[in-house]
Amino acid sequence: MDQKVYDLINDQINKELYSAYLYLSFADYYADEGLDGYANFYEIQAQEERDHALIFRKYLLENDCVPKLKAIDAPDKTFNDFLAPLEAALEHEKYVTSLINDIYAAAVSVNDYRAMQFLKWFIDEQMEEEDTARDMITKMQLFGDDKRSLFELNQQLAGRVYSVPTPLQGE
Ligand code: MG
Repeated sequence: MDQKVYDLINDQINKELYSAYLYLSFADYYADEGLDGYANFYEIQAQEERDHALIFRKYLLENDCVPKLKAIDAPDKTFNDFLAPLEAALEHEKYVTSLINDIYAAAVSVNDYRAMQFLKWFIDEQMEEEDTARDMITKMQLFGDDKRSLFELNQQLAGRVYSVPTPLQGE
């Protein structure tokens, strides 16, 4: 594997684990505020991010490369209202999209068609992640000021369940 492609994929393991850590901190905030549904949503989001890290790890191992695990940064955000974590989530997902695009660009530059094919799942996933993040912002903006509506939004998110992402199924 090309060194730059390797380095970026290896870094992405770290970035995805950081995402898991970041979303766990969002879950902590909402749990502390009594919004258990939002906390549940971000706990599951954290599990998904850990899975993303495992997918990149698996790709390296299956291509005869050994991951080099690095230290994970601590999330440092504090929030003043229920909307703030949702906005931070969208900003973060846009950043992750840019990282995936950078890996893809590196793969293109060395004609690494296998990596391009592998990254396709993440390109689609990022569109979904951004769409979901935007939807949660919109709903909070529309209904968040009304306590009954907020209660219902929270109830909906309490119903989110974890499922194993396709690239890890059968592991
Ligand atoms: Mg991710």
